[in-house]
Amino acid sequence: MTAPVPPLQLSQRWHYAKEQAISFLMQQAVENPQVISLAAGLVDADSLPVAETRHACERLLADDLAARNALQYGTTAGAVRLRRQILNLFAELEGRSPADLGITPEQIVLTTGSQQLLSIACEVLLDPGDICLVSGPTYFVFCGNLNGVGAEPIVIPADEHGMDTDKLESALQILEQAGQLSRVKLIYSVSYYENPSGICLADERRKRIVELARKYSKSHRICVLEDAAYRELRYDGPAHPSIWGYDATRSSVLYTQTFSKSFSPGVRIGFAVLPADLVKPVCDRKGNEDFGSPNFNQHLLAMVLESGEYRSHVDQVCAAYRAKRDAMLAAASEFFSDLEGVSWVRPHGGLYVWMSLPAHIHTGFSSELFRTAVAEGVMYVPGELSYAGPRESVPRNQMRLSFGVQGVDGIREGMQRLARAVRKIMSGR
Ligand code: PMP
Repeated sequence: MTAPVPPLQLSQRWHYAKEQAISFLMQQAVENPQVISLAAGLVDADSLPVAETRHACERLLADDLAARNALQYGTTAGAVRLRRQILNLFAELEGRSPADLGITPEQIVLTTGSQQLLSIACEVLLDPGDICLVSGPTYFVFCGNLNGVGAEPIVIPADEHGMDTDKLESALQILEQAGQLSRVKLIYSVSYYENPSGICLADERRKRIVELARKYSKSHRICVLEDAAYRELRYDGPAHPSIWGYDATRSSVLYTQTFSKSFSPGVRIGFAVLPADLVKPVCDRKGNEDFGSPNFNQHLLAMVLESGEYRSHVDQVCAAYRAKRDAMLAAASEFFSDLEGVSWVRPHGGLYVWMSLPAHIHTGFSSELFRTAVAEGVMYVPGELSYAGPRESVPRNQMRLSFGVQGVDGIREGMQRLARAVRKIMSGR
């Protein structure tokens, strides 16, 4: 007879990280293939860069030496060739010359998507019990990263201009008065077309966030983590300066951006622009995780940037998403305008329309609306997933609607089905 297998003893870190809502959403999508998903965060399939990637691969593999170099392991911080290209791209976005940025290429670190930088930033800056200030709502996977290191999120309400910086200051004052400032390590902001709300942070608030981080950096530096994942997906409205740009000392803001949305999530390359004294801690941690993101993908992306095909591709992607954004907004007007208490944000970029229903209509996975929507053949992301902190204080009447994956017709049909479900719930049928 074999001895019984003893139970697993999982780590505290696993307890922190369990119960990811994303798994439930994926399961729903797989179990209900007929459902139109306005939930999935995938990108538009038709505008993925097949030709650009083919050209880059052909060129990369045409030369044996260059090909061997790309097929070999790279370095933890990433290929110098791509980091130089990124310095140029970043300077262009900042409206400065590379020399005027006040950083060296060594301060640019390449990561496996910007998600890895979010995770590493939490690992190197936050101990269990430390505080990160986030806006409500915010990117729900980052809420999971905070949980994963045992940090405490404090939610700062947001309005149509993003995180309310007066409320941010009040929160910092209260923490200081309570003798808790030593626990505050980080302020997180998705500064362009936020996932989930689509809101772009107002310029004066960008500046104020940096000022507040400096003002309350007393015994230690409070850092700002600027997540600019959607920066290049701009369809109209002005090009906003980054939060990073207001950090004259280049010491407080960790900036991260990704090629997942503007090029391809399958290539999964992101980058960080880091304060000089954070480069080593981030690379130390990344060394433990993977000691370098896929080197071949980095060289491939460098080819695409060098050839100029990247810029034209981003223009195409923006044109495709602009049409889809417009289709979703048109469908929202067509099917939801006459529903009292229903409102939505008109985003100038990104992938999401954020819709609010009357306060008593709940949208969560276990709500009647979610079940009715799935029965009608449509799915969305419940807004409550995007609020960190205590569950009691979270609004339950919002939805994140993605226009990334569906075509224009699917978007209209999905919105019509969703309106049918909302109407049923509102009329008590
Ligand atoms: N930040 C935000 C706000 C996002 O929405 C996402 C992807 N959904 C990421 C970061 C991470 O994307 P990636 O790791 O592919 O760069």
